[in-house]
Amino acid sequence: MPGSRTYADVNAVVGGYLRDLAFAQSSQQKMFGYKRAAAAILSLDVPLTDLVGTDGTLPRISGIGPGSTRIIREILQTGESPTVERAIELSDRRAEIERRRRLRRHFLSRAEVRRILEDPSFSGPSLEQYCGDLQMHSEWSDGYPTVAQIADGCRQRGYRYAAVTDHSYGLRIAGGMSMADAARQRHAIEEVNAHLGQQFRLLQGIEANIDPAGRLDLSDEEAASFDVVLAAPHSRLRRNEDQTERMLAAIAHPAVRILAHPRGRITGSRAGVIADWDAVFASAAERGVAIEIDGDPARQDVDHTLAIRALEAGCLFALDSDAHTIAQLSYAETAVAHARLAGIAAERIVNCWPLEQLLAWLASPTSEHRR
Ligand SMILES: [Zn+2]
Repeated sequence: MPGSRTYADVNAVVGGYLRDLAFAQSSQQKMFGYKRAAAAILSLDVPLTDLVGTDGTLPRISGIGPGSTRIIREILQTGESPTVERAIELSDRRAEIERRRRLRRHFLSRAEVRRILEDPSFSGPSLEQYCGDLQMHSEWSDGYPTVAQIADGCRQRGYRYAAVTDHSYGLRIAGGMSMADAARQRHAIEEVNAHLGQQFRLLQGIEANIDPAGRLDLSDEEAASFDVVLAAPHSRLRRNEDQTERMLAAIAHPAVRILAHPRGRITGSRAGVIADWDAVFASAAERGVAIEIDGDPARQDVDHTLAIRALEAGCLFALDSDAHTIAQLSYAETAVAHARLAGIAAERIVNCWPLEQLLAWLASPTSEHRR
């Protein structure tokens, strides 16, 4: 392709510039248009460099208007976008846009996820080794699918098991599930399992909220009634102060098996919890608590750079989709891609274990279950 350059993740570069341009707009309508365009590029399955013709033309991409197309061509030709930089200068919002840029580091586009999954040079887990997803949300909290639809969706992806992990009752903004509802959900899950026999097992998990002091939003007895307890922060995610003690307290809870989206970061928006992560990972490793790589494209938390430090600390890992719809189950692939970049062996990933090994770890996280 004449005059073009190759980038590590061209769709992430383009998506970033389109988001910058969105925040440089004074018209709400234009801002939403460029945000939509960025989202469309970031979720493409293939890199833009594969779509562009030899004459530099781009095919029509759903969600991309002529203004965005000009920016994309400019970036493909030069690696930069003077047009976007000019718009930022004129907008008087450079400081805010620079702040957002820093909060997009170590995020992968969908096309880059696909490339990493297919590149045999990475030593980490393959999709074939991935047996089941341990974070997703159903109609019982802020998700859409029924537990039966979740079981079907997971079986279609070739999983042997999965955990439905609705929010606990403390997180009201996410439709947290009461314990009475949890009992009804348990019944619905048992019906699904009875129907599917040995082919597939749906576990009842819970995503407990970590409060500012590191406590969970359900009692010890209530926590013990779930097959798997995830603990995750959903508040105080924009503070500058250190929150190591909060995270250590959550990990020390006897029911917690997975520290889910440990930072609570959101791309271009917030960095999440600031903590001495090496201390958090050391404690998690000692207690057999798995560190999650959350595959939601906006979260990617922890990412591969932090995962390497957790790996060095001796941690186990959980690679999860955090899906709220059936289509979003594919977000697990983002987590697998980060694990491949970090070089995490499948033996260290609880989702790559057979069901019996997973259940043994859930029952007793500190005993030696590794093959
Ligand atoms: Zn969450």
